[in-house]
Amino acid sequence: MRILLTWLVFSHLLHADERYEFERPLMGTLFRIQTYAPSQEVAQKASMAAFAEAEAINEVASDYIADSELLQLSKKPTHQPIVVSMRLFCLLEQARHMAVLTDGAFDPTLGPLTKIWRESRRRQKMPAAEMIQQARESSGYRLLALDASKRTITLKASGMRLDLGGIAKGQAADAMLAIFFQHQLRRTSITAGGDVRMGDPPPGQKGWTIGVRALGNDMEETTLTLSDCAVSTSGDLQQAVKIDGVRYAHIIDPQTGLGLSRPVAATVIAPTAAQSDALATACCVLMPEQARALICKIPGCTLRLPDPATESGR
Ligand code: AMP
Ligand code: MG
Repeated sequence: MRILLTWLVFSHLLHADERYEFERPLMGTLFRIQTYAPSQEVAQKASMAAFAEAEAINEVASDYIADSELLQLSKKPTHQPIVVSMRLFCLLEQARHMAVLTDGAFDPTLGPLTKIWRESRRRQKMPAAEMIQQARESSGYRLLALDASKRTITLKASGMRLDLGGIAKGQAADAMLAIFFQHQLRRTSITAGGDVRMGDPPPGQKGWTIGVRALGNDMEETTLTLSDCAVSTSGDLQQAVKIDGVRYAHIIDPQTGLGLSRPVAATVIAPTAAQSDALATACCVLMPEQARALICKIPGCTLRLPDPATESGR
């Protein structure tokens, strides 16, 4: 009996999963995979397939690649159903769902505004008020209709432009984790810039240790121990621009059409990274009380806002 037990323990140790890590620049950020697998070969195979899926998502959904399927939609006639690829349809369906859930605080149809705003940030000059007004008339998630039975979308105003920048990294992280699950590698974590999606915890641990910048202070980090969920942080710490003495975030306030001009930061824990990514962006747009009320409504979600340190939900 003792020999058998010793042999079992020994063989388990011999075959214990090892930790593997893979990185690739993608979607303007660094994607990092951490996984526990029985061999380098198995881990490598899953990571190649997962990166290929993320690249495919980027190719259809990027608002930087001029001929991406998403940007090509802006050239199509309005008020007519357009058949889109299955991959893009699923991404848009999920994005529109998050827009409805957040009552438009997260809105994937803000493309005309994000385009103008990106240019203003580059030139460090405010956009003309008429341009903003015109772009606002071509924005609003209610102008984007989807029909799942025909896999079509309809753009209901001219000048529309879709932007999945606030959700695509989360969607890619979810898709990548699903591929690791298909390869039976459940002890995996995918980091896509400020968005992390985790499977089961590493062997012998309670969860993955995630460093989250202390909100409102670039220098400090808080650590969270999490598994089987996702966490995203959004804010103006990195991509803000100062124009005429006012600091504007890269996140657009749909009410004004301008970058948010108050300090914003939010960390959201949610069941999936598509949710946490979109919700973190939305919680920056919403005032703290509205953000807390929204997160409390959604099962499995937690919100962390900058000082006064508060948490709600779950
Ligand atoms: P994130 O870093 O996830 O908060 O996403 C920010 C990116 O999402 C921006 O660079 C824009 O491309 C896009 N975006 C800006 N404002 C919004 C908004 N209110 N709703 C949805 N997407 C937005
Ligand atoms: Mg986001």
